[in-house]
Amino acid sequence: KKRIGMLTSGGDSPGMNAAVRAVVRVAISRGCDVYAIYEGYEGLVNGGDMIKKFGWADVRGYLAIGGTLIGSARCKAFREREGRLNSAYNMVKNGIDALIVCGGDGSLTGADVLRSEWPGLLDELIKEGRITAEEAAPYKHLTVVGLVGSIDNDMSSTDITIGAVSSLHRICEAVDSISATALSHSRAFVIEVMGRNCGWLALMAAVSTGADFVFIPERPPASDDWESEMCEILKKHRKLGKRKTIVIVAEGAIDKNLKPIKADYIKELLSNRMKLDTRVTTLGHTQRGGKPCSFDRNLATLQGVEAVHAVLRATSDTPSPMIGVRQNKITCEPLMKAVELTRQVAEAISRKDFRRAMELRDPEFSE
Ligand code: ADP
Repeated sequence: KKRIGMLTSGGDSPGMNAAVRAVVRVAISRGCDVYAIYEGYEGLVNGGDMIKKFGWADVRGYLAIGGTLIGSARCKAFREREGRLNSAYNMVKNGIDALIVCGGDGSLTGADVLRSEWPGLLDELIKEGRITAEEAAPYKHLTVVGLVGSIDNDMSSTDITIGAVSSLHRICEAVDSISATALSHSRAFVIEVMGRNCGWLALMAAVSTGADFVFIPERPPASDDWESEMCEILKKHRKLGKRKTIVIVAEGAIDKNLKPIKADYIKELLSNRMKLDTRVTTLGHTQRGGKPCSFDRNLATLQGVEAVHAVLRATSDTPSPMIGVRQNKITCEPLMKAVELTRQVAEAISRKDFRRAMELRDPEFSE
């Protein structure tokens, strides 16, 4: 019988609650004990009442609620070995021998670091006299499983992350609202959207709303004078009778020399060169999505089920898996490989190898 700890960590994303719900209920139905660990790794480091055994009814109503009800945090202490030592102590004291973490690449890296230090952390606790060898004996093997909760859809080895579609939906609604006023006043809007160094939200929002122009980190404008080229395209759209101009800028947008392209700069271009009445809108935290859409509820539920199955399948020498989805099939791949590929994307962009960045995100990428 496994005793599974579940936590959500890093930036919150819609669907994390559905993942917690699925893990709790499948774990219970498979005869496991399941513990909610509050405030991400903070709960693991601090223990006490931040780790709570959950029953079936504790996750009632979770499906429809945005964010994460068991809380999330950025936890400095967990980045230090001392913090992870306390985490190991709290796991043994609560009888937890498996961990399911729902978060972004940072959180999943942290989970794998913990596992890589296992069972050394237990030996250290025994040496310090905090636990006895008998107490530690049943916890020799730590099972770690990752679920990717992120609105950015920036993780390699999976087609989509929990929360990205809800976030995209919210962005589209916001752009639609802005479009209505832009149309009324014949205005231009430059809209900055989230995504860190991933352009997925910006690109998909641009396609879904019929934006006039989009800037994403993975495909900087090729021309030396992209400013003039953009203005020409926007002018052409106006000549065709369009009364509004919408430019979407990913927060990580860059030019081909890796210099950030900022919404205010685009605004100056549209105002000064095109004489358009231009406003900048930064959508901010509304983009974190709120209520999860049905896709994220389903995705998180199916992946939560698979996460528990992965815990039950795990042996001492299987690498920690990450639950993903590819071509509509739930997948289970080595977590560190996915984290490493994700890291390499940023590296490829910093080398200006934008094609490689796309291939690392998606092995089937083609122009
Ligand atoms: P995300 O999971 O959304 O990428 P962060 O990168 O902020 O968010 O990571 C969330 C938390 O995961 C951090 O606050 C920290 O506690 C833990 N973490 C991240 N990277 C590491 C690491 N290399 N080693 C240990 N813990 C880490």
